[in-house]
Amino acid sequence: MRPTPEKIKPIILCAVLFLILFSFGNCSRNDNYPKNIVLFIGDGMGVAHITAGKIARGTLNLERFAVTGLVTTHPENELITDSAAAATALATGHKTANRAVSVSADKKPLKTLFEFARELGKSTGVVVTSSVTHATPAAFFAHVEDRRQHADIAEQILKNGPDVLIGGGWAYFIPKSNEGSRRPDDKNLLASLETRMPLVLSYDKLPGQSKKLAALLAPDGLPKAADRDYALAELTEVALRILSKNRKGFILLVEGSQIDWAAHDRDHEGIIKEMIDFDGAVGTGRDFAQQHGNTLIVVTADHETGGFAIHDGSMKTKQVTASGFTTSGHTAAMVPIFAYGPGSSRFSGIQDNARIGQTLIDLLLNREIGN
Ligand SMILES: [Zn+2]
Repeated sequence: MRPTPEKIKPIILCAVLFLILFSFGNCSRNDNYPKNIVLFIGDGMGVAHITAGKIARGTLNLERFAVTGLVTTHPENELITDSAAAATALATGHKTANRAVSVSADKKPLKTLFEFARELGKSTGVVVTSSVTHATPAAFFAHVEDRRQHADIAEQILKNGPDVLIGGGWAYFIPKSNEGSRRPDDKNLLASLETRMPLVLSYDKLPGQSKKLAALLAPDGLPKAADRDYALAELTEVALRILSKNRKGFILLVEGSQIDWAAHDRDHEGIIKEMIDFDGAVGTGRDFAQQHGNTLIVVTADHETGGFAIHDGSMKTKQVTASGFTTSGHTAAMVPIFAYGPGSSRFSGIQDNARIGQTLIDLLLNREIGN
């Protein structure tokens, strides 16, 4: 017996409703939770540092982010943070003491974004212009009581390091008997690292294709942006190419490490060059997210450096001609945050850096925020 049109109608209606609800539910889930996260940290990057970059450049990639906010940066029990405590807050969602790298003030390890990501089968990577053992990158994969334990951090890279590691710092991986070594012992970590992943020590040796990569391009920090013949954007592109091969997704940290160093030196020209280099990398990440979807881009700083202010210059000639610094150290000034992609709306307004770290972990774990 053939069903009458009256009987078919409700069946079709139900099927259509089910399809709409099902696909809508899926869409909203994808809209809220990213598969990939790229976190950009401009070390020491306050509002004036960005402004200096904009004066020199005209338009920045940072202007392509609709969601913006401000972040408080103080560590536990103090007002002024260092990079270790601030990076720990962003990497683990917990406050700690200055100089501590992803351990609590009472020295207990704090689980990091990278460690959560690895449990989900995702790949992890860091691209920095400092040594890869520096406080900011280290907070994402290492646990040490004092950021100056570079040799220990290098050892932890062998045990628990990211799949992609690009930056400087080979001096912390070679035995102390070798020229240029900064290790206190005779361990040859470079040899061990090479058994685990392709290892290169110069930019022109970077492989076109590989599943993992350690690129240690300088004994300690990379040359300044002005003295380098490759850009942070190019290094970021290499990392994205490798990491995006993992169908389960990835987490990448990119740091413009030397914005901070130029500000410590009270060098506004240096700040501008490092800012433009960093902003180029941000553009690469933003383009990737636009092309591939399901990628959250967050750009922020660990703290402001220098109490930097611009006193004179010209938008027309793209120059800063006079500037001032209230300190050679860090300040308590809030730093800006920019976000794009699934989950980006969670980063607007004024929030604390540990809250930002917690939100990144919640988004990674597809958890309701604050659970
Ligand atoms: Zn600093």
